Amino acid sequence: MLEIRDIHKSFGKTEILKGVDVTIDKGDVVVILGPSGSGKTTLLRCINFLEKADQGRAIFGDIDVNLKTASKKQIHQIRQKIAFVFQNNNLFNNKTALENVTEGLIIGRKIPTAEAVEIGKKALDKVGLSDKYNAYPSELSGGQQQRVGIARAVALNPDIILFDEPTSALDPELVGEVLTVMKNIAKEGTTMLVVTHEMGFAKDVANKVIFMDGGVVVEEGAPHEIFVNPKEERTQKFLKRVL
Ligand code: ATP
Repeated sequence: MLEIRDIHKSFGKTEILKGVDVTIDKGDVVVILGPSGSGKTTLLRCINFLEKADQGRAIFGDIDVNLKTASKKQIHQIRQKIAFVFQNNNLFNNKTALENVTEGLIIGRKIPTAEAVEIGKKALDKVGLSDKYNAYPSELSGGQQQRVGIARAVALNPDIILFDEPTSALDPELVGEVLTVMKNIAKEGTTMLVVTHEMGFAKDVANKVIFMDGGVVVEEGAPHEIFVNPKEERTQKFLKRVL
């Protein structure tokens, strides 16, 4: 469904992505693991044009886009298909939970307000926030805020949701509720590409795990292959440190 081919990205003289390929099929939950600084976040940001890659292609059905030279129209086309969940949720503090969810529908997708509100409420219901439609971010816990961020992505009904370390800014006791919501939407068949340090989520929910180090994909496979029988020494060392 989405093929990423040969992404390169440098910041200054440092090459952060050195030719990364990723293939995601419909319904896949792909988890990207790797040490800090290996380029995981940069990869996600390049896929959604939050950073401009120096080289690479994204093939999405019949859309084949050069990630460096994509036109505004192509970027718009790809962004219609992809939603992004940020590490720190990026909510508007002066808008309620429901307004945060409907904003992109009304402004971005030009959906009439009444319809957007219905979609927004359903998305908030899905993440367990039926009683928080009118709460402002400051009235919500970090976990609830992140669930609003997930509802906002779900409401857009994208082909794929990218998650950039969605739990790493949370207090430990709030991580579980967010992972549960992610697990639930994965079960419904949502296609997801998730950067996370949560090994339990990778083991239980992913159908494919990609291990990145030093700007390249070192190894990829089914969770049991990567966790039980990693082939590459770099993967083995990483897993020994984190498990
Ligand atoms: P972590 O798990 O710690 O989030 P990561 O694998 O997601 O790490 P990235 O956030 O992609 O790694 O960062 C890779 C490298 O690129 C880091 O050394 C980081 O400092 C650098 N980097 C990322 N964004 C920028 C930027 N906008 N300008 C300069 N350097 C950057």
